[in-house]
Amino acid sequence: MEILFEKHLHQLDAEEIITLLDSDPQKGLDRFEVESRRERFGPNAIPVRDGHSPLITFLLQFHQPLIYILLVASGITAALNEWIDAGVIFTVVMVNATIGFLQESKAAKALEALSKMTVTEARVLRSGEIHQIPSVELVPGDIILLQSGDKVPADLRLMRSRDLQIDESTLTGESAPVPKAAETLPANTPLAERRNLAYSTTLVTYGQGRGIVVATGAKTEVGRISTLVSTADVLETPLTRKISAFSRLLLIVILVLAALTFAVGVMRGQSGFDMFMAAVALAVGAIPEGLPAAVTITLAIGVSRMARRRAIIRKLPAVETLGSTTTICSDKTGTLTVNQMTVREVYAAGQKYELSGSGYCPDGMLDPRTGVALADNAAARECLLAGLLCNDSTLMQKETHWDVNGDPTEGALLVSARKAELDDWQAQQCWPRLDSIPFESQHQYMATLHNDESGDTRPVYVKGAVEVILDKCNLALDTKGQPVSLDSDVIQSQLEEMASQGLRVLAFARGKLAAESNEIDHGDITNLTFLGLQGMIDPPRPEAIDAVRTCQAAGIRIKMITGDHPVTARAIARKIGLNGTEIETEQAPLVMTSQDLAEKSDQELIDIAEKVSVFARATPEQKLRLVKALQTNGHIVAMTGDGVNDAPALKQADIGVAMGVGGTEVAKEAADMVLTDDNFATIEAAVEEGRGVFDNLTKFIVWTLPTNMGEGLVILAAIFAGVTLPLLPVQILWINMTTAVLLGLMLAFEPKEPGIMRRAPRNPKIPILDKVLILRICIVGFIMLVGAFGSFEWALGQGLSDAAARTVAVNVFVMVEIFYLFNCRSLTKSMLALGLFTNRWIVVGVATMMALQLAFTYLPLMNYLFHTAPIGWDAWWRILLTGVGAYVIVGFEKWLRRKWAQRPSV
Ligand code: ATP
Repeated sequence: MEILFEKHLHQLDAEEIITLLDSDPQKGLDRFEVESRRERFGPNAIPVRDGHSPLITFLLQFHQPLIYILLVASGITAALNEWIDAGVIFTVVMVNATIGFLQESKAAKALEALSKMTVTEARVLRSGEIHQIPSVELVPGDIILLQSGDKVPADLRLMRSRDLQIDESTLTGESAPVPKAAETLPANTPLAERRNLAYSTTLVTYGQGRGIVVATGAKTEVGRISTLVSTADVLETPLTRKISAFSRLLLIVILVLAALTFAVGVMRGQSGFDMFMAAVALAVGAIPEGLPAAVTITLAIGVSRMARRRAIIRKLPAVETLGSTTTICSDKTGTLTVNQMTVREVYAAGQKYELSGSGYCPDGMLDPRTGVALADNAAARECLLAGLLCNDSTLMQKETHWDVNGDPTEGALLVSARKAELDDWQAQQCWPRLDSIPFESQHQYMATLHNDESGDTRPVYVKGAVEVILDKCNLALDTKGQPVSLDSDVIQSQLEEMASQGLRVLAFARGKLAAESNEIDHGDITNLTFLGLQGMIDPPRPEAIDAVRTCQAAGIRIKMITGDHPVTARAIARKIGLNGTEIETEQAPLVMTSQDLAEKSDQELIDIAEKVSVFARATPEQKLRLVKALQTNGHIVAMTGDGVNDAPALKQADIGVAMGVGGTEVAKEAADMVLTDDNFATIEAAVEEGRGVFDNLTKFIVWTLPTNMGEGLVILAAIFAGVTLPLLPVQILWINMTTAVLLGLMLAFEPKEPGIMRRAPRNPKIPILDKVLILRICIVGFIMLVGAFGSFEWALGQGLSDAAARTVAVNVFVMVEIFYLFNCRSLTKSMLALGLFTNRWIVVGVATMMALQLAFTYLPLMNYLFHTAPIGWDAWWRILLTGVGAYVIVGFEKWLRRKWAQRPSV
């Protein structure tokens, strides 16, 4: 049936389409129909074409300069009839490509699995009820409800719309939102102007709509043109690019050096073949070929560690940046607080009521604090009724507790109404809803229009932020239910009293429309009668309090940017510990409001962003200005957001953080990271993991470079001294290939060091390797040179064969790498401080490596392949001593640095 529609969708009437698709606009499809259609049309998913087929990914492993060198070397060696060497080099190339292929696929798969963890959901009408279901489960004929922030889940023919605007940039590249409407269009309307269609994967930026699914999966517009390729360069980050560039530079330098070596050697009368082998050995040894792959793997491991702590990374570079975060700008409700609201106080017509009970359990009472019982206060009762009617949530009784389906703020209002013995069902029957204006943070209120059989007008109930509602009221209701003049000052002081205890306060009002009105609009929300206030607690999350403290100790500033009232925000900020020990002054107040901010220039904002910790009633535009101001000050900013309008700020921030539970699809799309629990503590955990990842990367680099340096130096020294090469190319290949995987990679599993959150954030502008680390790399490289060269010459002096002497040299390299690996488990601390077995992978890696070295030394086949020979105990003692020596020297150097760092400053 969909083929019929493909051509005529926009010119057919919505009703016709519904009939043709055999659906019901009021009830939607039923379960059986859904089942049969799902079987017929399949899941609503666009088949993702992989960036490259596995074969291409495998072949791409050969697209590296080092591999070219090796392949040429293998070719030339074969041409010289050195078949074994040629075969070994070729095998190494194949093994290398296979390992690279496996690692890359594994990292890509891990990331792909993560992207699936954030499923897009859609609101669908089925069997007369609205369900929130994963978009993949949709079938043609489903009736979909859209609201701002949603991602359009399939191709829809709109049936109804209210100010609906959709960002179609995913399809058209045009980022300005397109207004949509349900009316029928002429047949010749071009695709881009078919305003009555909403296309899959586009984003609703404003308004509401209802539409019927006309195409799913590959049949959608985006499915047809889809190049939804899991992009080949997803594994790239600024750091991996920097490292690749560094490797390329090094490659050129080393190739020039190798060519020079060859030329110098030949000019000095050495054999061309020997010099060729030396040049190849130099190139193979000195190029850190494993580096880019190791960085990618370490990042991928970081990503899965973060996922385990409920932070899903959407863009890989965030893993790097997280560790350098200096400021976290966080929402309040639900992120720093638990978002489980309970109304504690009601104020109406000069009377105050306290509510007992806890959570969403509707058992409790309203105790008058000022004498007038609830039954005698018409304003208070209508205030509670307004909370019940102007409400989209429902209460559910679970086995052990009560829960809310919908917005917790609204859930709390249902509970308070029940405590006042108002019946939801009865109220909804007496005053059925005709229309509504949903809550949007930019308007800060919600309104509903109701039918009233008994009256000659139709009531409108409004609830929202107190200032906004008061602004629209000109009267108030008294205890008898009579309109009287409004005293804003009294209400204001009641508000302040409630808010200063940290209560979230909502105001309620009533308006009216003519009896024939069926719709309401923002313009109708005027001349209201004020009904009362309800103040609800939303306690801080205990884990957020700890996380704030941890962040502060880690030199990370926390800014709370909330839509709530400044007084509430201040009270919560104090409970959470955001004021720290800072003393509030006029120049540096704790809280600023959106009004204060609006008056400030961008220049002034730079200073304010630095000093002020809480921004209340902040608008999304101000969030964006704040991020920019902080960034101008050199901060690395993580910013949370959930709404459509938060998207620009999320994109601007160094790390945009979206809420996985309460966030809109638009916000998730714009974010670098999604929190699956909306919890501030999760951001802190991700920062901690980010620091760990960076540490491990640095450790790997510091561990791997001395080997390349040492091998390069050994070859150069041998050539310039005119002596036999202590290492052959195949032996260097052996060292590099086995140790990178069995030793170096194990550093990626190193647990985070204790005290990782007691250091200042890393400045991303400074290079990874500072002077201290460069010096350490040189020291170890030099130890390898002296150790390997010295042992080789000693062995020759002892009358050992070239093969045995080279075996000694190879073992020296590996042994120093093993001992130095333990040094590298921390860049500053001693291994004993970390605990010997805190990283079991290292133990496993070292044991396997040792076993391999024994095979390399004693197994005849290995002797044959790698030109090695068995060696005796006296050689092993030297090898072991060199390793221990390296460990002691580096340990001493680290100890000196620690002492130096602890010296009293003068
Ligand atoms: P944060 O940005 O920290 O999560 P928030 O949730 O309080 O804070 P908004 O959701 O923008 O921010 O709410 C702003 C104000 O709008 C609230 O203080 C409240 O007065 C009012 N409000 C919140 N939810 C509703 C709702 N469902 N209906 C009517 N008004 C609401």
